[in-house]
Amino acid sequence: MIDKSFDHPRTADIKPTVPVDIPKMDTAFTALGLSDALAFGVQEMGYVNPTPIQAQAIPVVLKGGDVIGSAQTGTGKTAAFALPIIQRLGTHGKLRCLILEPTRELALQVEEAFQKFAKFTDLRVTIVYGGVGYGKQEDDLRRGMDILAATPGRLLDHLEKGNCSLADVDILVLDEVDRMLDMGFLPDVKRIVQKCPKNRQTLFFTATLPPELEQLAGWALRDPLKVEIGRQRSPAETVSHAFYPVVASQKFDLLQLLLDQTDFKSVIIFSRTRMGADRIAHRLEAKGHTVAVMHSDRSQRERIEALDGFKSGRYEVLVATDIAARGLDIAGVSHVVNYDVPENAEDYVHRIGRTGRAQNTGDAFTLVTEEDVRDARSIERYMGVTVERKKIEGFPYIYSALFDEKALAETVAAAAKPVSRLHRGVRR
Ligand code: AMP
Repeated sequence: MIDKSFDHPRTADIKPTVPVDIPKMDTAFTALGLSDALAFGVQEMGYVNPTPIQAQAIPVVLKGGDVIGSAQTGTGKTAAFALPIIQRLGTHGKLRCLILEPTRELALQVEEAFQKFAKFTDLRVTIVYGGVGYGKQEDDLRRGMDILAATPGRLLDHLEKGNCSLADVDILVLDEVDRMLDMGFLPDVKRIVQKCPKNRQTLFFTATLPPELEQLAGWALRDPLKVEIGRQRSPAETVSHAFYPVVASQKFDLLQLLLDQTDFKSVIIFSRTRMGADRIAHRLEAKGHTVAVMHSDRSQRERIEALDGFKSGRYEVLVATDIAARGLDIAGVSHVVNYDVPENAEDYVHRIGRTGRAQNTGDAFTLVTEEDVRDARSIERYMGVTVERKKIEGFPYIYSALFDEKALAETVAAAAKPVSRLHRGVRR
């Protein structure tokens, strides 16, 4: 549904400030080839050293090379492409850089990052995404921009209406491409790529490279440099995580106790379903917590209000479905709780990656019921590690046999659960 009344207060309208004097910089960022202005900007943001993906990608992107990057979220991927792109674009001109994102939240996040990094330039950044009215976006596009962040469907609508043209795009960024594949956006992405000039630089970011994406990369990129950071299948080392066995009927009580016992600043609780997320939120609110909810049944306005409120600290808890699991950069999330074990092992890594970002530490709790033992194991197989099972002292467990997984697995097998569950989480 279109939310016509909605105008997100974006930073796009802020006039760029070009300081008269940028000091001469000599930092790890200038050593990668970045200008004094950009090095000054990142220093203002508190960055001291480039992250590994930045160290690898920035020099290549500056030279105009294509890149396939696979990096976990929270690795500084956005700056790895945004900084060299801003430098390459130089000063204000035509629409020369397009960034495609699978969701509006990610598009907003990338747009905001570009606004910050481009603060000391006169480059203009704009964004278009679906689910809101066209008016403001048409005005923004008419005003002109150098960098456009977009979700594929809405961008195609604008292109069809003649509101903008991709004829001058020199740099195309396809971000979170595996997510775009999951969401069925690949045909739209291909149409958009075809509308960009052939002679361009293309940057392609994905956590996984299934055959469909390998084919797309082969078609859209030229001699790309492959940049792979860390073990893709493992959570960041700054996150400590454990499984908390519990029967389904005691899940909420255990969650409540975990929250009571934890000195958390901000916590994201993941639910498998939208209804489940609403239910958890209501129960937590009844216990006096301030709670925001984010899932795909909520309007765009509600989702942005939830995210902004959580980021600013107005809500201490964000209850979300996997829509929020990937890519969103929310600083200072101290804890993640998987109220439900994710069906997909890869989503586990993404979910708990919401904490422990950029050198901060984080904790992740996963409630594991008798039904979830197999999914929990497939998560461990996927990551190649054993996750510690924790029992909370003083909790009135009604079924402590949950801690004897071998016996439990036999009981579950005897009850002849479908074997396919075993494999469901292993690979998309
Ligand atoms: P990303 O992976 O792009 O979502 O970035 C994750 C977080 O790391 C963001 O909050 C960035 O502001 C932060 N970040 C990016 N690069 C650096 C750096 N070189 N030093 C410190 N923090 C950084």
